[in-house]
Amino acid sequence: MTSVVLEEIPDRVTLAVDISNCQGSCVGCHSPFLRKDIGEELTEETVDALIRDNFGVNCFLFLGEGRDKEALLSLSAHIRAAHPALELALYSGREEVEKEIWEAFDYVKVGPYRPECGPLNSRSTNQRLYYHGKDITSRFWRLPK
Ligand code: SF4
Repeated sequence: MTSVVLEEIPDRVTLAVDISNCQGSCVGCHSPFLRKDIGEELTEETVDALIRDNFGVNCFLFLGEGRDKEALLSLSAHIRAAHPALELALYSGREEVEKEIWEAFDYVKVGPYRPECGPLNSRSTNQRLYYHGKDITSRFWRLPK
């Protein structure tokens, strides 16, 4: 599923793509369908078409990272090369991601979803959004709930 969203990444018009095959095991998972191997494979051609069809977006967000890190890195490298005006974002459900993930994405969200802590726009959230290594999670707390 894809959507153009304004709230997931501060100050960006973001094209968000759900990635299935989630490797997380969050208690209270808000998107259980993403834990299954469903949907179509995301290819370079599909990504190019999505970006073409959503003219005006300035960020591409992977909502999840699936189980194939090499494919994810390869797709992100393609977007970087073919669409240099776009920034790249990843919502991971893991506590920590590898160095090459930090390097490949401008924005990285880490942390599993914990219902008792709330999502990113909750001040008690355990999740963190980083922009080039800087924690910008507090940007969400100014948004109306
Ligand atoms: S990261 Fe957690 S909340 Fe998100 S789809 Fe995976 S298990 Fe569910």
